Amino acid sequence: TLTTRFAPSPTGYLHVGGARTALYSWLYAQKNGGDFILRIEDTDLERSTQASVDAIMDGMNWLDLKWTHGPYFQTKRFDRYKEVIEQLLASGNAYRCYSTAEEVEAMREEAKAKGEIEKYNGLWRERTDHPTDLPYVIRFKNPLEGNVVIKDMVKGDITISNEQLDDLIIARSDGTPTYNLTVVVDDWDMKVTHVVRGDDHISNTPKQINILAALGATIPEYAHIPMILGDDGKRLSKRHGAVSVMQYRDEGYLPEALLNYLVRLGWSHGDKEIFSREEMIELFDLKDCNRAASGFNTDKLIWVNQHYMKTMDPEYVATHLEWHMKDQGINTDNGPALAEIVKIQADRVKTLKEMAQISRYFYEDFSELDATSVKKHLRPVVKEPLILVKAKLAELSAWEPALIHAAINDTATELEVGMGKVGMPLRVAATGGGNSPSLDITLALLDKDKVLARIDQALV
Ligand code: GLU
Repeated sequence: TLTTRFAPSPTGYLHVGGARTALYSWLYAQKNGGDFILRIEDTDLERSTQASVDAIMDGMNWLDLKWTHGPYFQTKRFDRYKEVIEQLLASGNAYRCYSTAEEVEAMREEAKAKGEIEKYNGLWRERTDHPTDLPYVIRFKNPLEGNVVIKDMVKGDITISNEQLDDLIIARSDGTPTYNLTVVVDDWDMKVTHVVRGDDHISNTPKQINILAALGATIPEYAHIPMILGDDGKRLSKRHGAVSVMQYRDEGYLPEALLNYLVRLGWSHGDKEIFSREEMIELFDLKDCNRAASGFNTDKLIWVNQHYMKTMDPEYVATHLEWHMKDQGINTDNGPALAEIVKIQADRVKTLKEMAQISRYFYEDFSELDATSVKKHLRPVVKEPLILVKAKLAELSAWEPALIHAAINDTATELEVGMGKVGMPLRVAATGGGNSPSLDITLALLDKDKVLARIDQALV
């Protein structure tokens, strides 16, 4: 079975770079009917936290990227790593190194002075006179000659000469395995066929390939995806604002929008911009990923978000709007159905957060009117239009947009003024400000009694 994995280190939230890696891995597995593993690389005990494990899984769940296996935790696999380290020692592919950190540093300095590649000089590589009382690390016996070729699905073939590579430490002096060893053992044991990860890992890949070869393991395919850059061309980080997936939820993006945005950030299919989940799975391919880094573009994300808010089922969008209403402390138990709000507000906002903000008046009364709107539309202008339209609204036989519209229209005709001279004061009175969707629809969604009471309040 084709198998991909997402292997985050739980030292923070799920950031957009990680989410994109997870998405590409997930998509590739989905596309090929394969497995998608979640593996938590928590061997750095100091920096790994349960809160971060939870945050990563929350982010993946919110984006609905379901793993088929795992989560596996590397800290639960130490016995297995030990076993493989022993195996490498026994087969002569690893050795105990008794050089102290200072000695290794001196070797590097020496190599540097000679203009050679800075690395461990192999002092203990072939020695058998092992001291019994000194601490040691275990190093992998990297081949001295030949090349390693990474056949990268994104970047093409990359050739690295073994001469460049150090005899990597695979176990520290306390016996704990190092990153490159654990990744190799896991990818091997978990039968990972395709390693999709950020290209910041590319320097590890030849080392990992060599260890896999020494173990007689099948070498997986690799796809290293380029970094995401901020608008200043530097690697995307907190400095650029939101980078955590859940922060995008908090700011009012639909998961579908973020997913669609992320799939396009580093991959394209002609000039198509909008991809449903099914289309992504069908059309995505690792070999079509960009080779160059991509720049994060918030305006485009907003555009995609607006597209989804406007085109998805309002009932569905409403479930997300409800979250934001709650988040802003707006009780929506009494008032129009949230799907109705979505229908009239979707093309007026950038985010669901904003939609919640501007829809408060549908659910909550207010004691203050927006001062600027009042100055412009209500006072000191005569209150006559408001009094007259209130009388007409009060008499309506049914509370529906067409009749409300007619009442406003009749008022304007009677007073020989434009519709706006009636509509705007009415809008300010009913919604608290000068901005709202079409007035007849807005009023229809509000209770009749509520509208009449709010007009009275404005007339005071
Ligand atoms: N744990 C690594 C990270 O968080 C990923 C390792 C890999 O994908 O091979 O960057």
